Amino acid sequence: MSARIAIFPGSFDPFTRGHEDIVRRGSHFFDHIIIGIGHNSQKQRFFPLELMMDCIRETFADTPNVSVETFQGLTALFARQKGAQFLLRGLRNTTDFEYENSIAQVNKQVVAGLETVLLITSPHLAYISSTIVRDIYRYGQNVDAYLPYSLEAVKAKYGH
Ligand code: ADP
Repeated sequence: MSARIAIFPGSFDPFTRGHEDIVRRGSHFFDHIIIGIGHNSQKQRFFPLELMMDCIRETFADTPNVSVETFQGLTALFARQKGAQFLLRGLRNTTDFEYENSIAQVNKQVVAGLETVLLITSPHLAYISSTIVRDIYRYGQNVDAYLPYSLEAVKAKYGH
């Protein structure tokens, strides 16, 4: 049987403890998870792509079956290019469900056989969102409690 490969796609601006939880739980089901940071050259990110890749690498330094890549364009096409049969996503609430339900159907139409696997968020992390983390960071608050890495330590280590 071929290796079970999943893409965990998102903007990850920034990657949070909620995201980490989905990847760690998902890693029991798949041989390999590729965290795919989707980006659009027309759209400005808050946390630079290279910095976020380093933060994610640092987080999973102890987990050899998790890697991180960036991609542009359709998630389903990135999955096909990587030989992934699955998309992994997290579900926090009914708003996430409405969106995930539609996008999963579309992704399967774009690439036949591409299955979306949804994991219910761990309750103690369900309130965390990248938007909220960005908002409080912007106003100078420490956001370490929401992140699985220290932003300042990664910046210093990788010279960002
Ligand atoms: P997108 O821009 O595609 O919504 P995000 O980076 O916001 O990407 O999120 C990527 C995935 O992680 C989505 O499936 C989202 O539902 C999930 N997610 C976001 N925050 C959490 C959290 N706190 N707990 C679990 N899953 C989460």
